[in-house]
Amino acid sequence: MARLGSWIEVFPEGIYVRPADAWVDPSQPKSRALITHGHGDHARGGHGAVLATPETLAIMGLRYGDQNGQPSAYGETVRVGEVDISFVPAGHVLGSAQIVLEHKGEKIVVSGDYKRREDPTCHKFVPVPCDVFITEATFGLPVFHHPDTGGEIDRLLHRLHSDESRCVLVGAYALGKAQRVIAELRRRGHEEPIYIHGALEKMCTLYEEHGVALGELRPATGASKDELRGRIVIAPPGALNDRWSRRLPDPVTAMASGWMRIRQRARQANVELPLVISDHADWDELTCTIRELEPNEVWITHGREEALKHWCMTHQIKACELNLVGYEDEDEDDG
Ligand SMILES: [Zn+2]
Ligand SMILES: [Zn+2]
Repeated sequence: MARLGSWIEVFPEGIYVRPADAWVDPSQPKSRALITHGHGDHARGGHGAVLATPETLAIMGLRYGDQNGQPSAYGETVRVGEVDISFVPAGHVLGSAQIVLEHKGEKIVVSGDYKRREDPTCHKFVPVPCDVFITEATFGLPVFHHPDTGGEIDRLLHRLHSDESRCVLVGAYALGKAQRVIAELRRRGHEEPIYIHGALEKMCTLYEEHGVALGELRPATGASKDELRGRIVIAPPGALNDRWSRRLPDPVTAMASGWMRIRQRARQANVELPLVISDHADWDELTCTIRELEPNEVWITHGREEALKHWCMTHQIKACELNLVGYEDEDEDDG
């Protein structure tokens, strides 16, 4: 019998699906790309043709202009060459998908980035049992355990209400994290206007156009110091310590990221209120998912590969690292 997944070739710039003549999340322009989600380290501009969910195509359109995209909604199956391809929710950000590839009776699932927790801004991860599971491992160490999101949001609200002469400035990435923090705040009953940095406006509008309610958002730029007292302001992480934030009323600097679990990272970024809110699976989610899918093999794309590989071996699952390049750019999908 042929080696499992022998019809998939792995190159540093991405995963090549030979019988479909298509690449998954390639880091270089290709004639046909299958894109898991809109983060810049996975979705790049300039491909000849793009197959992705309608939401991901909308996000790519916002960032790169028209991409000659073919939309594939969750649950649809599209035949490309000799491969049946479907996009299944990954629970990571709006439109994020696992890509399910079926060829000659073999099923391969590429997770893209994923998480298992509730997220009011996107569809929940759907487990698809498969022969080969190609997974991320951003938080692939047993030390990574993300706390309950509601508890982190409560800490933020508590801090806000403890001194209403100040504002709380939350650093959050423009695609996904910012909208999730806003939606989670609404869920916890925070109905006041939330002020946003200009760099977040278009993506928030795109989310709302896709049915994600974010409540009243106001531009932070131009708002007076007095108006911002006792308010939550959301900005991209890069704006936390720059000039822009100096006009805010004595801001408490917060940051929403899975990396805030590491105190040193929070300290380096001058973050006073680290919020451990992640859009990636933590160690338990990674290992529980592999248990649930029962793949014969696990291929690990990016992150902390070693520990997860070791865990697979000790559970009699064949595992390998793919050593792809170009994922996890610091300025984008940072956790
Ligand atoms: Zn990623
Ligand atoms: Zn991502």
